[in-house]
This record gives sequence, structure tokens and C-alpha cells, in this order.
Amino acid sequence: MMIDLNGKVALVTGAASAGGLGFAAARLMARQGASLFLTDLDGAAVEARAEELRAAGSKASAMAHDVTDEAAWAAVMDAVLAAFGRIDILVNNAGIAVLRPMSAMTRADWDRQLRVNLDSVYFGTKAAVDQMRRQGGGGSIINMSSVAGLVGVEGTAAYAASKGGVRLFSKTVALETAKDNIRVNTVHPGMIWTDMQKVAIADNKEVFDQITAAVPMGRMGEPEDIGAMVAFLASDDAKYITGSEFVVDGGMVAQ
Ligand code: NAD
Repeated sequence: MMIDLNGKVALVTGAASAGGLGFAAARLMARQGASLFLTDLDGAAVEARAEELRAAGSKASAMAHDVTDEAAWAAVMDAVLAAFGRIDILVNNAGIAVLRPMSAMTRADWDRQLRVNLDSVYFGTKAAVDQMRRQGGGGSIINMSSVAGLVGVEGTAAYAASKGGVRLFSKTVALETAKDNIRVNTVHPGMIWTDMQKVAIADNKEVFDQITAAVPMGRMGEPEDIGAMVAFLASDDAKYITGSEFVVDGGMVAQ
């Protein structure tokens, strides 16, 4: 097996963070030959990431995009087509973590969490499926869920609701697009050291410490551990895999 993404075009959301999961996946896919279109809220930072990929010899473009802006998804897809002529891979990676026990959560926390982590995945998946069908079918959509989308994790009520939603949304769309050879899968990271974790510690250190203590391998994962799974699912090596879920968590949910 040799992951070969030559000739494929990938769109990755939430790709501005240099140490984040989105950029790690983008960099690995670029290394395997894919052309990358990166988006993020932070337009300057995401352009800097695209420049890094170009400096390493890959084809890459970037654009500012708030994934909760449904109308702007059409503009993103137009820009991907203008840059590379097609789309083969979408990684719905952008996300935030509002870590609050249910009783400490406000309605605004709940709405914001679901809008950024779940509504956006619907908007992006729909835009990509429509375009992949226009291309005659074929494609791989990878939606970033979490171990919190598989099992209950105390203190993460809204986050877990969003990630559990991503999981079953993805399985259902996988059924609806299987005949088009469009594959839809979810990746479920455990504790990976990124900016999100730094924010989570500031948000609720107690919850963070509890979660970290529950990793059987006794350490956090690296962004590349997730990137490698994304690159595999994006590739034709995964051509018979759809509607499925891939846990990369150092053993957390094996317990
Ligand atoms: P991160 O905070 O490092 O990066 C997230 C990126 O998403 C940032 O660049 C941010 O600007 C962007 N973003 C946030 N809201 C956005 C919006 N509305 N529109 C566009 N971009 C937006 O986080 P990360 O750890 O790399 O997380 C990436 C994904 O992986 C998220 O969906 C997260 O829930 C999931 N995840 C992470 C972990 C972990 O341990 N790090 C575990 C499970 C799941």
C-alpha cells in the first residue's frame, strides 16, 4: 500500500492553525501529491499555511471562510474550481470546544457549539456532494468527530452533541451517496495536543485533567497521528470504506 493522492484536489477547513489537525492533514496529503485548498476564519494565517505548502513544492491556495456561513460555501467551491478545476476530497475539520457541564452552559454556548461543529458539516458536505455529483461521482468526505462523538464525556454536553451528530449525519449521507461512489467517513481523535487543548485547559482545567488521565497510552497524540488517518481515507486505498468511523485515541474508548 502506498497512499497516492496525485491528481486529487482536497479542501480542508479550519486549516490556519500551524499545529492543528487540519494543517497536519493538509501537509500529509500535499506530500502524497494532492493539491490543497485551505480555508479558515483567519485569512492571513491560512494564506501563510498555503504559502508553506507551496514553498515545499505543492500546489496550494487559501481563502478566508467562516464555515457557519452557508451562502459563502458556494463562493468557496467556486474558488476551488477556479484554482484546481475539481474537488475530490473534503475534510470538514474546523471546530471549537465549549467545555461546560450542562448546568453551567448557556443557551448561547449550546447554539454556538452546534452551529460551528455540526451545521457547518452539513453545509460543507452538501456543497461537496453536489459538486462531486456534477463531476460524475467519486470523492471522499472526511468529517472530524471526536471520541466525545462515541461515548459520553462528562463536562462536554454541547460538544458531544455536536460530534455525535457529525457521526450519524455522516453515516446517513454515506448511504445516500454510496451509489455515486462518494465515500463519507468520520475520524474520532482522542486527546491531541493542539491550540484547542490549550483553550480547553483555560476553559475548564478540571474537565481537561480528567480526560487526559483516561488515556491508556499515557500521553497525548500528535496532529500527524490524525493526519495520517485522514490521508488514508482520502486515498483510493480506502475505496471500499464508507459510512465508517475511525478512532485514533491511544486506547481511550477501548475501556
Ligand atoms: P484548533 O483550535 O487548533 O484548530 C481549529 C481551527 O478551526 C482554527 O484554525 C480555527 O480558526 C478554525 N475555526 C474555528 N471556528 C471556525 C469557523 N467558524 N470557520 C472556519 N474556521 C474555524 O483545533 P484542532 O485541535 O486542530 O481541532 C480540529 C478538529 O478536530 C475540530 O473539529 C475538533 O473538534 C476536532 N478534535 C480535536 C481534538 C484534539 O484533541 N485536538 C480531539 C477531538 C476532536
